[in-house]
Amino acid sequence: MLNLSLKLNKRDFEYDIYSLIRAFYPGSTIKIWYEGEEEPIGDYSYQYLVEYEESSITFLVFDQNHEISRSITRISGQADRRERKNYVKKLVYKALVKITGRELPWGDLTGIRPSKIVMGLLEDGKTNLEAASLMRDTYSISPEKTALAITVANREREILKKINYKDGYSLYVGIPFCPSICLYCSFGSHPIDQWSYMVEPYLDALCRELKYIASKMRGRPCDTIYIGGGTPTTLSPDQLERLLKLIQSEFPMEEVSEFTVEAGRPDTITREKLEVLRDYPVTRISINPQTMNQETLDLIGRRHTVEDIVSKYQLAREMGFDNINMDLIVGLPGEHKEHAAHTLERIKLLNPDSMTVHSLALKRAARLNLFKDKYKEISFENSQEIMQMTADSAREMKMDPYYLYRQKDIAGNFENVGYAKLDKEGIYNILIMEEKQTIMAAGAGASTKFVFQNGKRTIRAENVKDIKNYVERIDEMLERKEAGIKELSTQ
Ligand code: SF4
Repeated sequence: MLNLSLKLNKRDFEYDIYSLIRAFYPGSTIKIWYEGEEEPIGDYSYQYLVEYEESSITFLVFDQNHEISRSITRISGQADRRERKNYVKKLVYKALVKITGRELPWGDLTGIRPSKIVMGLLEDGKTNLEAASLMRDTYSISPEKTALAITVANREREILKKINYKDGYSLYVGIPFCPSICLYCSFGSHPIDQWSYMVEPYLDALCRELKYIASKMRGRPCDTIYIGGGTPTTLSPDQLERLLKLIQSEFPMEEVSEFTVEAGRPDTITREKLEVLRDYPVTRISINPQTMNQETLDLIGRRHTVEDIVSKYQLAREMGFDNINMDLIVGLPGEHKEHAAHTLERIKLLNPDSMTVHSLALKRAARLNLFKDKYKEISFENSQEIMQMTADSAREMKMDPYYLYRQKDIAGNFENVGYAKLDKEGIYNILIMEEKQTIMAAGAGASTKFVFQNGKRTIRAENVKDIKNYVERIDEMLERKEAGIKELSTQ
């Protein structure tokens, strides 16, 4: 992991330049500083300098002793902000490709929604071929990733034809408790054994927020509901019942096309809890192995066995759940191609209805990052070969890719892909990723996103993450949504 420094003469496009450098040097620390500031003292492997002028941009790279690269691009005086941003990114990307001898699968694309860009092009009347060549020319995306983005955008368009999403909204409900905290977790979930005394007050506040949302959104169809977290099945059967009963009584269930409950951790699943879910119109659940290698499960702090995953999955099947998703993570600490192959073989035997493959993202708040010295001997491996293995396994299970997104600091600069069998897709995932409709979100750390003009403009209303703060300041969480709700009512 390298120590890098980046000097800028303007604040424009700082995030994009930073993200591109990070993508070439994952896990590195980058000190950003500006012209006019005192030079930071440190032992930097590389120093980058961006000089951004009205008609040109210069990108300089120094190693510890010398200038090793200098590139300049001229900018047309007519270029708007978006075009200028593309000039900067292209310049930086090409210089880094030359220095490292490596291209990135998603080229200089720093955004997290590649398929949203493709969908926009298709909606504007471009053909698949035109959209593909625009993606390649604008962002230098590899042919494989261009094909993936085009495939996903087309499937999403087909799936969205099934619902009248333009008039409706979706509901997200967050349960921020888990049986233990995974090494890579950045969601701010809370270990239930230490926080059990806060569950009832939390549910009181959550129910208030849900009632508020239901009353303000009355008259609009609620297309999908997603209870996530955390791990919702950390709640006791009675607590789960209380939550589901309230949702059923407050929201127009006859219009809900999909109702997902994450039962992510097998160590929280019991027959009694699955019976509660079955008593309500829950249509889809997610049981998330992440890996089928016991050593890795132990290392990442999941506190359950591979056999727990198998037995809880089989129990859910026996009880009639006919739409089960499984989440996997590739690039977990200590895992190589052989581990991924083993996980995929075991998943194929289970034959879930959908599978979401995440590339590990080293988030700043995760324990894995906070204690990186402790884990520095452990390797993190992800590659196009592993990504291809996951795609091949999905195909063998008769699943096709249906949604796609990228994250900051994602291993190998790859992507997260949702694969599903026909009619088993998670529509909520598409709606949120493609910013197709408003997502009303309730719970600590939940983020409501009001969507206007078919995703061209969004406003967020964030809830506080801390559970005690959330409970104490619940009125303020409701107030934070008021401006968005008011604007929505004028649409
Ligand atoms: S199960 Fe998910 S939310 Fe819970 S600690 Fe692990 S990664 Fe975080």
